[in-house]
Amino acid sequence: MLIVKAGGAAGVDLDTVCADLADLAEAGEPWILVHGGSHETNVVAKKLGHPPKFVTSVSGYTSRYTDRTTLEIFEMVYCGKTNKGIVERLQKRGVQALGLSGIDGRLLEGKRKGALRVREGGKTKIIRDDLSGKIDRVNTDLLNLLTGAGYYPVICPPGIAEDGTAINTDGDRAAARIAAALGAATLVILSDVPGLLAKFPDESSLIPRIALADVDDAAERYAEGRMKIKLLGAAEAVRDGVGKVVLADSRIENPVRAALDGGGTTIEA
Ligand code: ADP
Repeated sequence: MLIVKAGGAAGVDLDTVCADLADLAEAGEPWILVHGGSHETNVVAKKLGHPPKFVTSVSGYTSRYTDRTTLEIFEMVYCGKTNKGIVERLQKRGVQALGLSGIDGRLLEGKRKGALRVREGGKTKIIRDDLSGKIDRVNTDLLNLLTGAGYYPVICPPGIAEDGTAINTDGDRAAARIAAALGAATLVILSDVPGLLAKFPDESSLIPRIALADVDDAAERYAEGRMKIKLLGAAEAVRDGVGKVVLADSRIENPVRAALDGGGTTIEA
């Protein structure tokens, strides 16, 4: 099974990703698509008068502060506009695509974060109403049921906590959990960069390969912002049994096949 994650950054080209996935489906290759929607969520949140707020944890990671209103906007964009837009693109190309979020059928179950300890203006602050969390269980029965019946799942956050609360969760991490749970050979993570760049944003400085043992060091040395979390998620997937993870470019012709053919940054054991 091939798992593909399409990012939600402004430059991610969903048309080329869907066209490529349709060709792969036509050729009999099963896949599951996981997608983001971060850029569009920011745009819509601003329009609705509830602009995005990002917080930085004491350990240095930045994440979206998700109060109830933010979660609702997040669902409108991820589960609504973006998910249905992708399903429509695929259905137009003859793929029996089916959209699901992580709360549907408890597809992506996890734990809500407790109080968040964040840094703000040089001080540590505790946030208690944040609705985000980390996925630790995937409903593989549901995925196997769907793929076994010929459907191509198109999956997005949020996930669901044990008590049924929706939780905002990182799309790359969710894709990594799905790939690991299904024992996937390959996870392709497509974004608006060619892969991990040694001198970001210089696109000629692509790092083609990172051994699992060197990921933490590479994240520390080269990655800024969200790329750090992406790398850690990729390493987690390989550690949990995924054959390899490829960070690759969505903006090129046949982006998935290019990644499978050795493009981008490959992380393997
Ligand atoms: P998506 O939402 O598409 O998953 P992210 O925003 O999570 O994408 O991560 C990709 C982004 O990481 C790139 O658009 C780039 O701005 C940023 N980035 C930071 N450091 C690096 C690096 N060393 N190499 C490549 N991209 C990097």
